[in-house]
Amino acid sequence: MASYLKENYDVIVCGAGPAGLYAANTLQKGAAGKLSVLLLDRKSPWKEPVSCAEAVSRKIFSRYWTPKEEWTRQHLDGVYFTSPDMTRVEYFQSDCGLILDRAAFHREMAEKARELGAECYFENYVERIFRTDDGLWNVVVRHEGNVQVLKTKTVIDATGPGAKITRDVPELDELETGNFDVEPAIFAIAEGIPHDVKHIELLFGHKYFPGGYGWVFPRDGKTVNVGLVNGREFLQSHPPKATLEAFIRDAYPEAKILSIHGGAIPCGQSSRPIAALGVFKAGDSASTVNPISRSGIVEALKSGKIAAECVLEWLKANSEEEKREIEKSAYFRWMKIQGKAHLNFHRGKKGFGSISDAQLDKAAHRLASIPANKRSLFRIFWTVLSSSPSILWKLHSFFF
Ligand SMILES: Cc1cc2nc3c(=O)[nH]c(=O)nc-3n(C[C@H](O)[C@H](O)[C@H](O)COP(=O)(O)OP(=O)(O)OC[C@H]3O[C@@H](n4cnc5c(N)ncnc54)[C@H](O)[C@@H]3O)c2cc1C
Repeated sequence: MASYLKENYDVIVCGAGPAGLYAANTLQKGAAGKLSVLLLDRKSPWKEPVSCAEAVSRKIFSRYWTPKEEWTRQHLDGVYFTSPDMTRVEYFQSDCGLILDRAAFHREMAEKARELGAECYFENYVERIFRTDDGLWNVVVRHEGNVQVLKTKTVIDATGPGAKITRDVPELDELETGNFDVEPAIFAIAEGIPHDVKHIELLFGHKYFPGGYGWVFPRDGKTVNVGLVNGREFLQSHPPKATLEAFIRDAYPEAKILSIHGGAIPCGQSSRPIAALGVFKAGDSASTVNPISRSGIVEALKSGKIAAECVLEWLKANSEEEKREIEKSAYFRWMKIQGKAHLNFHRGKKGFGSISDAQLDKAAHRLASIPANKRSLFRIFWTVLSSSPSILWKLHSFFF
């Protein structure tokens, strides 16, 4: 049996990805370590591999957590956008991004949460939650074959994509499921792929990446993370594993695949509530991934912060009405800082996906003729859009 210090907690955080770990840290900082916070994860989240390409914007990430060399695989100076005919357009911006070693980053966050007073248990699987007449949530936890039920006033569900612990809980029927526009993503750790350790490469084209994109991200100078995420409507026509293998074989005949991993990405902004009756959802479980870039690490940090701040207010609330207002506000807080933009991206996603290979190539050729130092992200974006007037029409929902 896990030796939890209590049977009754103020907050139980389920899931120790970036959302849950950041929430646990924010809770303990906000309450000066005075809350009883339990953090649970079904695995030890620093055990490799984390199913992710691990790229973040340095500037935005640094607002939430100070990057450390120990868990930074690479510092990035830009992006190569590669069109279907393999024309590469470089966008250069010094020190714009980081490739993380997420496993080691998670470990540091968990250690910090512990230092601040949170109890953290790993290899602890949350089977389900249910509410009893005392108004408390019961969290059913399995560890090494033993099942224990813990009580808590509030729950932060940061268990990643899918409504893992809120499914089939009648009181939480209305909540976001984390299943919205889920796309399968797959990647290989491979060697023998020529790449620039200071740049990530994003590849486009309908042959391998319909409705999405492929990527080659540097790791240690020798290996790369090469993967793809495609629109879910292409799952049958482009089975992810076979498509990735075909792409690697065709584009990099010398490459050696060392391992293949996959995961699901909820890629749409939902309009369902993300909190009710003291249960707050954060990160992928609240569908906070950027629908176009499919990035979700920084988004998970942001949303973990919102969940923790709401819980801190909720625990101090003087009435049930006040609690309901705080729960409602969780969604609006998210929409204000990011969700509104995601809603527009989600609307425009189909339009982006329908840009033809010829149009992408045309835009890439035009961009390639512009000096590198004059290529801003906006100019790249605009050139792609304006490479055919019909694209602008297709994307009108993105702007309005
Ligand atoms: C292939 C791939 C590549 C990606 N690349 C990038 C990228 O380059 N940049 C980027 O920003 N984003 C990327 N993403 C998205 C990013 O990984 C996620 O958005 C991010 O991890 C979400 O964080 P989270 O904390 O919400 O969930 P997660 O990181 O999924 O963490 C959830 C945690 O909950 C635990 N858990 C689940 N169920 C239970 C349970 N019942 N009981 C206890 N614990 C449980 C899991 O073990 C896990 O540790 C990628 C995703 C995939 C699949």
